Amino acid sequence: MSPPRYDLVLRNALVIDGTGAAPYRGEVALAGDRIALVGAAGLVAPGDAARELDIAGRAVSPGFIDAHTHDDRIVLDAPDMLPKVSQGVTTVVAGNCGISLAPVTFAGEPPPPMNLLGGRKAYAFPRFANYAAAVRETTPGVNVAALVGHSALRLATMDDVSRKASEREIGAMRDLADEAMENGAIGFSSGLFYLTNKAADADEVVAVAARFAEHGGVYATHMRDEFDNVVDSLAETFLTAERAHIPVVVSHHKCAGPRNWGRTQETLPLIAAAAGRHPVSLDAYPYEAGSTVLREDLVTDEYRIMIAWSAPHPEVTGLDLTDIATAWGLGLPETARRLQPAGAIYFQMDEADVRRVLAFPLTMIGSDGLPHDRHPHPRLWGTFPRVLGRYARELGLFPLETAVHKMTGMPAKTFRLAGRGRIAPGFFADLVVFDPETVADRATYEKPTEMSAGIEHVFVNGRLSWSAGETTVKRAGRLIGGRA
Ligand SMILES: [Zn+2]
Repeated sequence: MSPPRYDLVLRNALVIDGTGAAPYRGEVALAGDRIALVGAAGLVAPGDAARELDIAGRAVSPGFIDAHTHDDRIVLDAPDMLPKVSQGVTTVVAGNCGISLAPVTFAGEPPPPMNLLGGRKAYAFPRFANYAAAVRETTPGVNVAALVGHSALRLATMDDVSRKASEREIGAMRDLADEAMENGAIGFSSGLFYLTNKAADADEVVAVAARFAEHGGVYATHMRDEFDNVVDSLAETFLTAERAHIPVVVSHHKCAGPRNWGRTQETLPLIAAAAGRHPVSLDAYPYEAGSTVLREDLVTDEYRIMIAWSAPHPEVTGLDLTDIATAWGLGLPETARRLQPAGAIYFQMDEADVRRVLAFPLTMIGSDGLPHDRHPHPRLWGTFPRVLGRYARELGLFPLETAVHKMTGMPAKTFRLAGRGRIAPGFFADLVVFDPETVADRATYEKPTEMSAGIEHVFVNGRLSWSAGETTVKRAGRLIGGRA
């Protein structure tokens, strides 16, 4: 008798293949780290697979790709990646918003927002190749696709980031871009909203982005303004990308602040029009609150602000800024000053805008979770099941296969992750088995680290990495994309 041709067959599956096509009943066979076969029930003869797993009509889809993360360091420090794997995530796109762990080191403490990834000691990778080697040595629980941040490049090459870079400094950033792309980075990100990146004008961004483009990179941007000037920022983003000849992802698209609520009716048609001329996509998380460092210029009484962490006052994490201010007998600005350095959750969006952005055909799902925060935004643990459960099943915002496409095939194509994001022969066996009837997020603003429901099995590169209820992950992640 010949040995089995497949290592495993998933029987009795509802196959959602990641392309957006309608689900169908069938089975999926795995061999090594790849999908060998997918098709109708009975395709794999008894004995053809070393193991069989009857998934009892549950859905099997490609593993979810978290299109927007700040997981650069957590994949090394807490490599199980349970917050993500337990949602069905098998790949994270790191290095967003201009913030990446490589290639930069610091003599003193890193300035905000670089401190979202950790302190001076966390920044131990003067070249991207050093970071790539660390990921490979660690074997995290998820695959890592890494962008290189503009703030990281500026801090690595400039003595003063409060001004525009000189020709020589831009040249140095372009050299670092070459090194990163030759060693497995997938592209470039900017965070023009942040102090470390703000002084870069469009010419500087174009000059650096163009070098990433020469290597086949993509460009993701946390725009200069997501508040009153969001339309100007979109125009800058499109022009920058067109001039640099690089596909662009508008990060966590939102119209922030009560004055701008409803304005996605204005921005989304502009984005659709730009996408007719040049490759443009979006990422978004399914919540009405954002989260980043606590910034005094974002402090307002117009919307709720919750403290996610505070270095001098860890005891107030999870409390609202207004309650802390009342307890301390201070105004909001002074309270915010005393909490620094700190992080916050800002309830700055309108639910109707959130739904409009999620439903937009060019929108991918990205958690933007902040894994080092003491009291994190619930998006860290809940984003993907929340899209599948609340937005697809309960609210009917889109069919299940569209939700899955937004978290698999679409990001794989956008970030040029070859062999990922689809259930098809020859593709990597990154798979998630879930129950479409019960999948749901459980993390809340009050209890943000609750594991989601309905995710049953997660395979990474052919390995069964996690099953429901487990608290450890059998790690099989790799650095992927680019030339990795
Ligand atoms: Zn951002």
